Amino acid sequence: MINHHLSDEMILAYAAGALSEGQAMVVHCHLEYCDHCAARLREAEALGGALLEELDVPTLTSLDFDDMFAKIEVSEEMQEPLSMETSDTLQERATPAMLRNILGHGIEDVKWKRVGPGIRQYVLPLDLQEGENVRLLRLSPGFVTPMHTHRGSEMTLVLQGSFCDETGRYAVGDIQDADGDLDHQPVADTDVDCICLAVTTAPLQFRGLIGKLMQPLVGI
Ligand SMILES: [Zn+2]
Repeated sequence: MINHHLSDEMILAYAAGALSEGQAMVVHCHLEYCDHCAARLREAEALGGALLEELDVPTLTSLDFDDMFAKIEVSEEMQEPLSMETSDTLQERATPAMLRNILGHGIEDVKWKRVGPGIRQYVLPLDLQEGENVRLLRLSPGFVTPMHTHRGSEMTLVLQGSFCDETGRYAVGDIQDADGDLDHQPVADTDVDCICLAVTTAPLQFRGLIGKLMQPLVGI
């Protein structure tokens, strides 16, 4: 049961091909889990198609053609059927297909790098825009992330276990979209390691002594 979904803004930006590559990847992975957001995406695409049909020919010819074809390619890509998972199979399959393609294996075979007591990470080898990172984070049960705010945005998708913070509890398939307004301290709250896929578009800002000590280690 997924309780935390993509915002309307995210769905529309994804449909329009306006998200950064890292953000689009994490959104795509959430859509693999979430029929609700997949249906909303189809609505957004239908709306976009209807708007395009309303444009008259002179307006169309004034568009930049490379740009237009890029948009068409994106929309064709998104018409690939998203897998429909039931909640039973969801628990068994923790690696979204898109992530599996990038890794070449499931999250059970990730070569984790320890960044501190109770926290490991793996930075995905992607060629992203300046300041953007996509990483897998693995938190031991009970691990308390140092309190931090965000200079940019941080979007986190839970793949295994769960965490909770001031805004609620996030379990498998749930997505959290944190921006500069959120000052939070996530805690891994089950008896299995919490594994998340996270995209950050600018460095996090840790607060307090432990956070400042961890900043250069985590590199986020
Ligand atoms: Zn959703």
